[in-house]
Amino acid sequence: MNKDLWRNFTAAKTSFKFNGRSFARSAEVSKVFLRHKPFMKGGMRLVYGMVLEEGARAPGKAEHMMCAKRTFEDLEKDHGFQAHSAFCRSTAVAKYFGQKFRKDTQQALAAAVQFGFLDCHLYSPVGTGEDGYHFCGEAYLNGHFVKLNSNAGYVNETDYNEHSMIAQAFSHYTFDKSHGELLVVDLQGICGEVKDDPYFLLTDPQVHSRCGTFDKFGSGDHGDQGVSTFFNKHRCGPICKALNLRKDYEVRPPTHIISIPGVQSCLDFLQPRRFWMKKISGANQFIMPKQASKDKDWLDIQLWARPHSGEKFKELVNKSLEVYYEASRQILFLEQAWTAEVWKEKLDQWQSSSGAAVVAYPSDWRETAPSELWVFSEKSESGWVDHKKANWALSKIKEELESSPPDHVPGQSPTSKPAKQDVWTKYFDRQGDPFWYRESDCLWFMESDPGWERFLDETSGRYWSYPHAS
Ligand SMILES: [Zn+2]
Repeated sequence: MNKDLWRNFTAAKTSFKFNGRSFARSAEVSKVFLRHKPFMKGGMRLVYGMVLEEGARAPGKAEHMMCAKRTFEDLEKDHGFQAHSAFCRSTAVAKYFGQKFRKDTQQALAAAVQFGFLDCHLYSPVGTGEDGYHFCGEAYLNGHFVKLNSNAGYVNETDYNEHSMIAQAFSHYTFDKSHGELLVVDLQGICGEVKDDPYFLLTDPQVHSRCGTFDKFGSGDHGDQGVSTFFNKHRCGPICKALNLRKDYEVRPPTHIISIPGVQSCLDFLQPRRFWMKKISGANQFIMPKQASKDKDWLDIQLWARPHSGEKFKELVNKSLEVYYEASRQILFLEQAWTAEVWKEKLDQWQSSSGAAVVAYPSDWRETAPSELWVFSEKSESGWVDHKKANWALSKIKEELESSPPDHVPGQSPTSKPAKQDVWTKYFDRQGDPFWYRESDCLWFMESDPGWERFLDETSGRYWSYPHAS
């Protein structure tokens, strides 16, 4: 070997194997010959010609030619160990799914798709060689290089049509088979046919990982966002269908949830607008409830989208809801500090007696106590909004709420002693302000209210104000 062109050193060569759940590593020591000058310079890395000891006698022979890839990124942190093992782990994952894919396509399609990836090993110079910086080594790929998809959403739609379709299906396949934890993208290399069967020999795949089950696959791992980007662009073709691949939203939980009142007229109002919302926001997928259900006063729109699209979709839903509310909703502001059970009972009563939809707001009122009641008017058969039932419900509810002081809980007294008729009892409202209440005629007043006449409180022996007018 010409010393002007090649340098050599000893390195530990680590191989990574993936079994669907975890990685196994094995290492051996090897003598490595590396070109002094890189033959390719990418944005983030250099690629050098490389041969191993057994190829040193004839480094020009195709089967001996290898390349060493070294990224600049994070090189100083741990001499590039993490960054370079991430490449090897990505390749190990891709190889594992490539083998499974071949078996499954053979069964589902009448073709045996050879979906191969070049072996990628981690080389760690031993001693002073190469200053201890790690790099990746793999066979030199000779042929027409083609990129089929990328980790940033690119899909090749211009050439290698059939191969590109298979590659997109393979990416989807990895997501389904890993139960939504991994997605292999950045499919590139050479491809062609062997006896009518398509074959692929690919290099530098990238894994997007979700759920945190695995360590991040380097800086190209865009996680959940990378998955969203892929599925935003991906359209399932005949191969995905033949393999029965689950849609991404069947595999992973929604990225956004939007609560809407579970009122039929509200759902009917949103339904015809749903595809327009998806189109404008660029959301991947959504599930919008169609049918109101008796035991759910609030329903969820489930959404799968990147953060920006998700926010846009929410905004569009809210804009539509504003239009709907304007025509159909009346609001009652609440001060009663009743328990969730009491509210539930009251809501049921009001709804069944009036036939109108009455919903407590906010949607998590069971935990936080409701601050408003929303009474909805349904559309009549003629298509006009009919306020009759809602108005009747509203007057009934108002009547009942007005006869109930803010802190009076129907059927129970906040003090240990049951409140006696004709006896004034002191309570505290939600702000902690004291007020007095007489059960016999539901009369009440705040301690701080001016203009009340004094009266004697039998329990404390003190005088308090008492309303003159009533
Ligand atoms: Zn698909």
